[in-house]
Amino acid sequence: MSTGYPAGAGASSLIAADGERWIDLRSDTVTHPSPAMREAMFAAQVGDDVYGDDPTVNALQAYAAELFGYEAALFAPSGTQTNLIALLAHCGRGDEYLVGQDAHTYKYEGGGAAVLGSIQPQPITNEPDGSIALQDIEAAIKPQDFHFARTKLLALENTIGGKVLPQQYVAQATSLAHAHGLATHLDGARICNAAVKQGIPLQDAVKGFDSVSVCLSKGLGAPVGSVLCGSKGLVEQGKRWRKMLGGGMRQAGVIAAAGLYALQNNVQRLAEDHANASWLAAELAKIGVLQVSVPQTNILFVTMPRDACEGLNAALAAERIRVSMAPTLRLVTHLDVSRPDLEKVAAVFAYYFKQ
Ligand SMILES: *Cc1c(COP(=O)(O)O)cnc(C)c1O
Repeated sequence: MSTGYPAGAGASSLIAADGERWIDLRSDTVTHPSPAMREAMFAAQVGDDVYGDDPTVNALQAYAAELFGYEAALFAPSGTQTNLIALLAHCGRGDEYLVGQDAHTYKYEGGGAAVLGSIQPQPITNEPDGSIALQDIEAAIKPQDFHFARTKLLALENTIGGKVLPQQYVAQATSLAHAHGLATHLDGARICNAAVKQGIPLQDAVKGFDSVSVCLSKGLGAPVGSVLCGSKGLVEQGKRWRKMLGGGMRQAGVIAAAGLYALQNNVQRLAEDHANASWLAAELAKIGVLQVSVPQTNILFVTMPRDACEGLNAALAAERIRVSMAPTLRLVTHLDVSRPDLEKVAAVFAYYFKQ
């Protein structure tokens, strides 16, 4: 079957409005669906998913549940929404969840748990490796006393800032939470990166968590969507919250097909993104004035003199390289940037700082 898309569109092509291709390192959310993914979308069988009738959404949910080792899964438009659905399903009004100060669900989701769920976040400072210290978790669990919000949930994030939480830590933290009667949720927007990096099955990477939210639209390359995996009961409750939040979609199979394709084809290849990030970090580290992180997965950070930002940004833009410029710059590799693209990026950095 042909979709009529021009050959070569999609994979490794970021066509800007003016038709020029850009190398975009701002995030792994900028990928375009590949021709093969678009074929899968074109061919998708659809139905009305609010009625539960969409066979492709149902297939994606069944596949994700099986892949991550849960009873059920729920497809939603974004990771912000699957995280919020999980928080709403685990916690009620006047409950609280323990969460890292740097965590996406606390810091980057508009305070949704508090605003829409009347759920109090109890943020805790993250350790340099992204974990939350076990003694800090324990100390933050409130006694049962009417002065306090009821501590109901521990939420962790993996990867966090591109860092992989150690498996032993995850086991300890989730056991500790369960021992205190708390539920556990994983913001696994990039859990596939964590699993691939460690060479472990996805099911092992999410062990200990009662629910996990996984983004299909980051390194996995789908244009839209996240899945929330958990027990049948949690997903049933989740459907109610999803409808209330406006995430009940109709012929959503068109986008679910992309997510299914992503889970079936784009997980193991994340290793390439990790290798590319390591390669780029090593190249940039050769430039004396830059401080470069050692990336564990597909995210690296480059700290540069503040006064270099504007000029470097212009030099990169002149070569159609897009970054979110900052004195500590985050660069993210993904399936639409190749090694030759990164060679060009490294060359622009080297040229700029040699002047
Ligand atoms: C991207 C991301 C999300 C969800 O983002 P959406 O853009 O709403 O899909 C959640 N958590 C983390 C850690 C993320 O990186």
